[in-house]
Amino acid sequence: MDKVKLNTSLVCKITRKRKIKDKNKIFHNGWTEKYAFIKRNNKPICLICNIELAHNKTCNVKRHYETIHKKFSEEYLLSLNYRKNKIELLKTKNKNQQLNISSYSQESINTTEANVLSVLDPSNSKIQRLVSQISISRHTIERRISDISIDVEQQLLNDLKNCEAFSLAVDESTDIEDKPQMAVFVRYVTSGVIVKEELLDFVKLKDTTRGVDIKEALNNALLKANVTINKLVSVATDGASAMARKYLGLIGLIKSDP
Ligand SMILES: [Zn+2]
Repeated sequence: MDKVKLNTSLVCKITRKRKIKDKNKIFHNGWTEKYAFIKRNNKPICLICNIELAHNKTCNVKRHYETIHKKFSEEYLLSLNYRKNKIELLKTKNKNQQLNISSYSQESINTTEANVLSVLDPSNSKIQRLVSQISISRHTIERRISDISIDVEQQLLNDLKNCEAFSLAVDESTDIEDKPQMAVFVRYVTSGVIVKEELLDFVKLKDTTRGVDIKEALNNALLKANVTINKLVSVATDGASAMARKYLGLIGLIKSDP
């Protein structure tokens, strides 16, 4: 008997938990008035900064509003009429923005189609039909960009493998998080005697940017591209001591390479 009672209370507990969980997945209309959020694709969108939150959770919506838009909450106090007007204004602005985005997307699709057709054969109905059938969804475009990028990289690696000599231009700088990074550009002559200049790699450096660190990063970049350093004929740098010093700079270290 006790066992049955225990089981029933456990089931009740689980059901209650599930109900709370489900409630958390729903957008609450009251959030618009209280926290300036609206629902789009079943996700909460902030009317003030347009950010989309990942979950329909009161704590997340509340935290966003209270920490990011503290000034707004102080300026437009709850239940006052001018706050309601301001929220309505933001809702209209957001709606118009969405309309503009969708009309622009359709317009750009039409322009792209027309451009492709004008390059090919505008009078050919078969081409016309094929062009209109090409999928230009976000994922398809992403896949195509990735395919093109792989192809471009492969061409560069092949060219470098077959070239007689190449030169480099390297420069290091820090990103917004103050982490050092180095861009490596390569210039070479292809087997068809065409001079090409490409970005070979963008490498993360260690916390220190001594000549030896830069040399190590460059070695790794060249190794990754399967390029041997004995084809290197010149290196361009900004002349900073880590780059240009006779013995401990990048140039010195490259020269002393066996
Ligand atoms: Zn916001």
